[in-house]
Amino acid sequence: MKAVLLRELNAPLSVEEVDLDGPSSGEVRVDVKGAGVCHSDYHAVTGHNPPYALPTVLGHEGAGVVADVGPNVTDFAPGDHVVFSLTGQCGRCRNCTVGRANLCENEWGPPYMRDGTNRFSQNGAPIAHRHAAFSESTTIPAEFAVKIPNEMPLEKAAIIGCAVTTGVGAVVNRAKVEAGGAVAVFGCGGVGLNVIQGAVLAAASKIIAVDVAAFKLEMARSLGATHSIDAGAADPVELIGEITHGGADYAFEVIGSPSVTRQAFESVRPGGMAVAVGVPPMDADITVPARMLFMDRGLLGSFYGSGRPRVDFLWLIELYMDGRLKLDELITRYRPLEEVNEAFDDMITGVAARTVLTPAR
Ligand SMILES: [Zn+2]
Ligand SMILES: [Zn+2]
Repeated sequence: MKAVLLRELNAPLSVEEVDLDGPSSGEVRVDVKGAGVCHSDYHAVTGHNPPYALPTVLGHEGAGVVADVGPNVTDFAPGDHVVFSLTGQCGRCRNCTVGRANLCENEWGPPYMRDGTNRFSQNGAPIAHRHAAFSESTTIPAEFAVKIPNEMPLEKAAIIGCAVTTGVGAVVNRAKVEAGGAVAVFGCGGVGLNVIQGAVLAAASKIIAVDVAAFKLEMARSLGATHSIDAGAADPVELIGEITHGGADYAFEVIGSPSVTRQAFESVRPGGMAVAVGVPPMDADITVPARMLFMDRGLLGSFYGSGRPRVDFLWLIELYMDGRLKLDELITRYRPLEEVNEAFDDMITGVAARTVLTPAR
């Protein structure tokens, strides 16, 4: 069985033959039909958000077909279609109970499974992994899988597992943008484009896309942005102030840059709210002008759409089936596992909104 391995930071990934065990108690084995290439995976490659151990199998934005279930799994059967949730949803902890399953307290212990053992190996040597979506097949704890309707195409459902949920959820679940609000979005990659989709669903009046890549600004327009700003050519804070006559009601930072988060904060009017969605570097601090904060402005974080995957995945799929959420347009290209390095290149050079790998066709 083939999987994509990260053996050292800042080096090309390799596609190698590996062994997969399981499922053990409480686990499911899933044949991966689609795996989105997310910026978070790239953060692991560069060490911006380092992996827990090397070598490791990357990939967390996945969907596939349940191939086998371990003992004590009652919710899944072979043949079920599932999307991977970034976080577990034990359903019993405090956060799950209050509807914040994105912050489940029974997190799966990295770099291996809950019991401290691993499922991936190569000639007996352990390979670290979490979802390991960049693999033909993977074994995950059952509570990280969400069952979806069989008619939903799996290679499209994959991106609901991270980019779509993170972006739309930040608007709908975290900021709770109201109809008529003016929204600015700093960073129009895979997640940022979904913040724009979320703003469209929320009936925002102005949706201002900010990026430095022409392709991404064009994508943002096609998904519903009403204005676009090339941050390399103009000061976005000043322009947003002009377009909105005093500042946006909501600004989303979808890059993970402390300085851009400050710009997002500075672009909202008194009473407005900035939401930090991008993954920040380890140990980074964010500073904002205290006098601006004092004027009823808010600065919030939003992790993984601040949502409930078992609930949100299903309504997002319904919107897609109804033609009200765009997924086909977000996926610039499908590639086999062997082209994972090219997929990262496309992301870095800004010529792809999302690439989806198709491990087990
Ligand atoms: Zn992701
Ligand atoms: Zn929980």
